[in-house]
Amino acid sequence: MTGSSPSLPIVRHWIDGKPSDGTADRLGDVYDPATGELTKRVAFASVADVDQAVASATSAFATWRNSSLARRSKILFAFREIVVERASELAAIVTAEHGKVLSDALGEVNRAIEVMEFACGIPHLLKGGYSEEVSTQVDVYSIRQPLGVVGIISPFNFPAMVPSWFFPIAIACGNTVVLKPSEKDPSASVWFAERWAEAGLPEGVFNVVHGDKIAVDRILDHPDVQAVSFVGSTPIARYVYENGTKAGKRVQALGGAKNHMVVLPDADLDLAADAAVNAGFGSAGERCMAISAVVAVEPVADELISKICERMATLKVGDGRRDVDMGPLVTSAHRDKVAGYLEAGVESGAELVVDGRATEVDGESGGYWLGPTLFDKVTPDMSIYTDEIFGPVLSVVRVSSYDAALELVNSNPYGNGTAIFTNDGGAARRFQHEVEVGMVGVNVPIPVPVSYYSFGGWKASLFGDSHAHGTEGVHFYTRGKVVTSRWLDPSHGGINLGFPQTS
Ligand code: NAD
Repeated sequence: MTGSSPSLPIVRHWIDGKPSDGTADRLGDVYDPATGELTKRVAFASVADVDQAVASATSAFATWRNSSLARRSKILFAFREIVVERASELAAIVTAEHGKVLSDALGEVNRAIEVMEFACGIPHLLKGGYSEEVSTQVDVYSIRQPLGVVGIISPFNFPAMVPSWFFPIAIACGNTVVLKPSEKDPSASVWFAERWAEAGLPEGVFNVVHGDKIAVDRILDHPDVQAVSFVGSTPIARYVYENGTKAGKRVQALGGAKNHMVVLPDADLDLAADAAVNAGFGSAGERCMAISAVVAVEPVADELISKICERMATLKVGDGRRDVDMGPLVTSAHRDKVAGYLEAGVESGAELVVDGRATEVDGESGGYWLGPTLFDKVTPDMSIYTDEIFGPVLSVVRVSSYDAALELVNSNPYGNGTAIFTNDGGAARRFQHEVEVGMVGVNVPIPVPVSYYSFGGWKASLFGDSHAHGTEGVHFYTRGKVVTSRWLDPSHGGINLGFPQTS
């Protein structure tokens, strides 16, 4: 974090339908990871700035919650149309601040659009139940109502998609939003705010505050924030869940991951090698659904590793705006941290098969580069296995049987995603039944659910019990209410102090 510089653009908050400087006493730095250049500064919110955003959202809620479903879905459709039309503009913003290659950034934007499309169906999603004549002349029906102001706190690795897992549904359900995106790549959120305004969303329904722990802590303890959706690393997810719930809020906090891909001896090894490379090195391994451990059930390891190496040799690393497969890491500090694991892996006795530090790069020398790296003979006690590295480092763990593979996956503290590669339907079916992980792929390495299912892990990958989007998302952003009604006919009557019974 540095002081202000007049020559650089400042990414501002978005409060009450317009950009806001806030108190602007603290600013963060935003870099282009492919060049290492400081390109922007971002305003860091003070407590007063968050309070202003929450006040705007609180006041907007009074009318937004009463807007008809027809009006809400019209605005959602309009927003979706604008985002679709300008998707490549958003992808370019993501690449410039995150570093992922343009095609991958566009892929992220498309997954974001899918959630917007799901939210367009809100009139159907909010339909309740109705039972006529549950007792004589008594009907019962259920409705779901919005919560109020909801906070969304998101990580750096999907600056367009992860906030979009939440805000379209929160808004569709009648809530108002205060979004605190990652300070590393903050511009996508403001871009969304501008598009909402163009789509006709009333002022104050969608607010963005930038910043760090100060903004997060204020969202967590503000009495007018009813619920918090968080995505990020496990220690912060746990912190957000504990503090948010202590303050009486509903919280879903999605955390880190260590995803295993199990390859059985009967698998198609070409398919498995493609999958390991795509899921291990796509977005430079900075995906919570990236594969970081390939569990090779012997005797496949040697052949599988040789096929993975052939494919790794073809990967082009460089500036995501050029014709390359993989971009830089997000910051210089993160690049150095990931590179430190290469040393740690060698020291702990793993075999460094491909060393990403030697990769040739099509990009500026100041970029945060580290090429795809492969370790073999990794064991569960090594830090390259136990830690979430969040970089382009793939570890092969050799095991002797399906049971040993399952035991390894289930002993891991994380439970976000996993995949099995096999041609044996019975083995795949057994795995999906026995594995303790929230999202499972069968011959699919990155099993991110489509928007009408829900996204979320188990164990240390999720605190709280609601997954993101799909019907669980609608459930999270609404409270149920059941109405029991009787319209009297002239024959009613009589006092009865007994507990209500059906008759
Ligand atoms: P992070 O935990 O550092 O940051 C996430 C958010 O928390 C950011 O908005 C950040 O400003 C805020 N934050 C950071 N430190 C804080 C603190 N001490 N107190 C309060 N708030 C704080 O995560 P990141 O590095 O931005 O993202 C990468 C992590 O996110 C990885 O662990 C990855 O697995 C995880 N992730 C998980 C999912 C999932 O669905 N489970 C999806 C994407 C990313």
